[in-house]
Amino acid sequence: MRVEFPEFRLGTVLATSFTGTLSERHGEAVERIPTPQRLVDWLAVYGLAVDSCTPAQLDLARALRESIHAAATAAATQEALPESAVQVINDRSAQGRAAAVLTPEGERRWQLSSASRVEDALGVIAADAIGIIAGERDGKLALCASPTCRAAFFDTSQSRTRKWCDMNTCGNRQKKARFLATHGKKPRSAD
Ligand SMILES: [Zn+2]
Repeated sequence: MRVEFPEFRLGTVLATSFTGTLSERHGEAVERIPTPQRLVDWLAVYGLAVDSCTPAQLDLARALRESIHAAATAAATQEALPESAVQVINDRSAQGRAAAVLTPEGERRWQLSSASRVEDALGVIAADAIGIIAGERDGKLALCASPTCRAAFFDTSQSRTRKWCDMNTCGNRQKKARFLATHGKKPRSAD
C-alpha cells in the first residue's frame, strides 16, 4: 500500500519554499518532508537532485529549515537575528560544495560534488537564504497574515503589500473566513 504524504507547496523562492515544507507552525503543523525520501523528492523539484538521503541528513535539513525560518522571521520584523540560527545557516553554507554551471541553453544549474551529498544541496539553500536575509535581492521579507501560519515569505510584488505566504492556501482560507464572518450565522448588531 502506498503511503500518502502531504503535498509540497511550491514557491518561486528557494529558501522560503524550503521553510514552507513545515506549514501551519502556529496551528496544526504539517510536516511535508516526513521521511528522507520526501526530502529527496523535494530537492529534485528544485534542481538539487540527490540519489539518497540518510535520517541524519534529514535532521541537518530540518535544522537548517528552522534556522532559516527563525532568521527570516527576525529580519521580517526587524529584530536582531538569533545567533544560533545564523550559525547553522553559515555552517551549512560553508560546508556545501555545489557549483553553479551554465548549460548550453544559457541556464544556471547546480552541480553537486556527489549524488549523495545532501549537504551540497543544503549549502545552496543556505546561500539563497543569506542573499534574501541580507537584502541583496529585489523584494522584502514579510510574515504571512494567517494567524496559524505566520510563515516568512519573500514579497516580490511591485507594491510590496502581499499579505499571505501562498494565495492558494492561506490567502484563500482567509477570504473564506472573512466571508463567513460577514455572511455566516452570527447575528449582526443592528446599526
Ligand atoms: Zn501562510
